[in-house]
Amino acid sequence: MTKKLIIIGSGPAGYTAGVYAARAKLEPLILAGEIHGGQLMNTTVVENWPGSKAGIMGPALMAEMRDQAQKFGAEILDKNVTKVDFSKRPFMVDDYLAEAVIITTGASSIRLDVPGEKEFFGRGVATCAVCDAPFYKDKVALVVGGGDSACEDALTLTKYARQVYLVVRRDALRASKIMAERVTTNPKIKILWQSQVKQILGKTKVEAAVLVNGDKLVTDGVFLAIGHRPATEIFLGQINLDHKGYIINGASKDYPTMTNITGVFAAGDVVDHRYKQAVTAAGMGCMAALDAEKWLENK
Ligand SMILES: Cc1cc2nc3c(=O)[nH]c(=O)nc-3n(C[C@H](O)[C@H](O)[C@H](O)COP(=O)(O)OP(=O)(O)OC[C@H]3O[C@@H](n4cnc5c(N)ncnc54)[C@H](O)[C@@H]3O)c2cc1C
Repeated sequence: MTKKLIIIGSGPAGYTAGVYAARAKLEPLILAGEIHGGQLMNTTVVENWPGSKAGIMGPALMAEMRDQAQKFGAEILDKNVTKVDFSKRPFMVDDYLAEAVIITTGASSIRLDVPGEKEFFGRGVATCAVCDAPFYKDKVALVVGGGDSACEDALTLTKYARQVYLVVRRDALRASKIMAERVTTNPKIKILWQSQVKQILGKTKVEAAVLVNGDKLVTDGVFLAIGHRPATEIFLGQINLDHKGYIINGASKDYPTMTNITGVFAAGDVVDHRYKQAVTAAGMGCMAALDAEKWLENK
């Protein structure tokens, strides 16, 4: 049987799309992924989700979103989609057929793959300075990377931390000139050129980082800012991606979240390499569901 709408992915974008689509009686099927709930499943307290003054634990927030989508009638299967065919309608998503599809497969930060990184992820090892910087008031933080994101993270952290190290692999920053200037002239930031983190140490949380030259830096946090990888492998050759692999939407002025394939929409971190926030992903998920609803009505 052909579904009206399939949503691929189950982060804030996917579940929000699910809530809106289910309330619009589109009876959406959410293919949530084997590891459902998205990136917030790997964090502790989320302090910038509007409406939760006391903060909310990431997994609790995602469980609420999932329940809410189900409450309105979304069907959720914790399966990874391995194959899509968008060349004709109805679209094929694994063995399922759909008139419209919303892609919300998200992105993941590129890891260093060093000892201690996995162990202390969420306990000092972080990937989002906008999210976690306020936890570093009067503490020491270390940022890994040399591009614009790393510089932005380092500058964000200086608003709270007393000292910020920036560990740069090369002898120059890849960031824009203005960013590089802000970082190099900030008295709180110490740049460690031609260096890399080779180990992260601690007992219950991050306490230090060891560099390739053997130096041990005492730090409360290690922020990874060496890029993100959008989960778009299965869409290669099917829809337009940018040079970093993010989905390009906005092909239609009537349906801003539509991709180059009419009837296929995309939302959240899989299209967004700029904001990468739960609330922006959820907002885009809402937009994609409203666009899909309107498109299905007009079709
Ligand atoms: C440790 C950490 C802490 C963070 N803290 C905050 C914070 O405090 N505040 C904030 O606003 N943001 C925070 N973020 C960022 C926020 O989590 C993301 O911006 C947001 O989760 C993006 O939502 P999304 O729905 O686009 O994708 P994601 O959350 O990445 O979810 C994508 C989902 O799609 C699924 N998927 C992928 N491929 C497939 C497939 N082939 N088939 C089926 N399913 C698939 C995945 O399993 C995943 O469940 C944090 C991120 C991390 C990593």
